[in-house]
Amino acid sequence: MLVVMRSSATDCEVRAVCEQVEKLNLNAHLMRAASRTLIAVTGAKGALQALAFEQLAGVDEIVLVNKPYQLASREANPAGTTITVPGTTAVFGSPELVIMAGPCAVESKEQTFAIAERVAAQGAQILRGGAFKPRTSPYSFQGLGLEGLKILAEARERYGLAIVTEALDHEMVPVVEEYADIVQIGSRNMQNFSLLKRAGRARKPVLLKRGMSATLEEFLTAAEYILSEGNSQVILCERGVRTFNDHSRNTLDLNLIPMVKRLSHLPIIVDPSHGTGNSASVTPLARAAVAAGCDGLIVEVHNDPAHALSDGDQSLNFAQFDEMMQQLRRIAPALDRRVPQPQPATVGTIAQ
Ligand code: PEP
Ligand code: MN
Repeated sequence: MLVVMRSSATDCEVRAVCEQVEKLNLNAHLMRAASRTLIAVTGAKGALQALAFEQLAGVDEIVLVNKPYQLASREANPAGTTITVPGTTAVFGSPELVIMAGPCAVESKEQTFAIAERVAAQGAQILRGGAFKPRTSPYSFQGLGLEGLKILAEARERYGLAIVTEALDHEMVPVVEEYADIVQIGSRNMQNFSLLKRAGRARKPVLLKRGMSATLEEFLTAAEYILSEGNSQVILCERGVRTFNDHSRNTLDLNLIPMVKRLSHLPIIVDPSHGTGNSASVTPLARAAVAAGCDGLIVEVHNDPAHALSDGDQSLNFAQFDEMMQQLRRIAPALDRRVPQPQPATVGTIAQ
């Protein structure tokens, strides 16, 4: 059950609802979003208990949600959630798509700056790059760690990009939150519940990637973990699932986009890099993702893909990234969406 408070509701009225929840031996999960305050009441046995809340001051409506996720459900915010990224023009869930681009892993300052410069020049608002890498083999490059975070932060200052980077476990959230603008939770961690809960107490938006064999219900219920801890800023990301096919690393499930739009109010972006595993397929699938109605993309781009320390096969080189952006600019208007315009002013500050 969701108790939706009026936008004018006072803290005192919100507290009174939470006290009523406790009195009935139920549990309250408070979520304050920009547009409204919601209290998810769990443990309720049925519609009858709604009566105990309807008459309380400041309550707008009671919504009964019969799903394992409530705060993530469309009913919690039928108008759709938008998430702004301070310091940039990026607004997830707005008509303008959010483009996140950058290397799989931060390898060096030179590499990161060269890529940041190019993706910023093409209009990307957010720089991606792993400082802590979840690698299948313990012998593969694990990332630069804290040094990687510092390089990303420097790139933010220099190129005016926001930063998204991954936290691998709950203990890592505070340091990632300190340096990054968006905390990424990777596919392998979609059901790492202690990480989800800690991210739910972070003050930054969370990019939640779909587990590689997660159903939509499991995906939205993972988002619920973050929301139920009070963080209303969750961005979903489809990045492909494991199937029997052997022609791509994963199968990018674009079916998910319209279903997420129906069942949830959260913005959803697509990762065509991990979704395909090969650079030749990235742009076609990015086009398809935009056509299917995604709110943005996260794409791996490298200045020298052949020598990348991770995921070079699926990284676009600069010319391919430029071409992808140009193509998306032609497709987006057909869906009443926009792709950010190039920012040529940022070009040419770094020698490559
Ligand atoms: C990544 O984006 O760096 C990454 C590791 O992706 P995923 O968690 O989707 O495998
Ligand atoms: Mn990668």
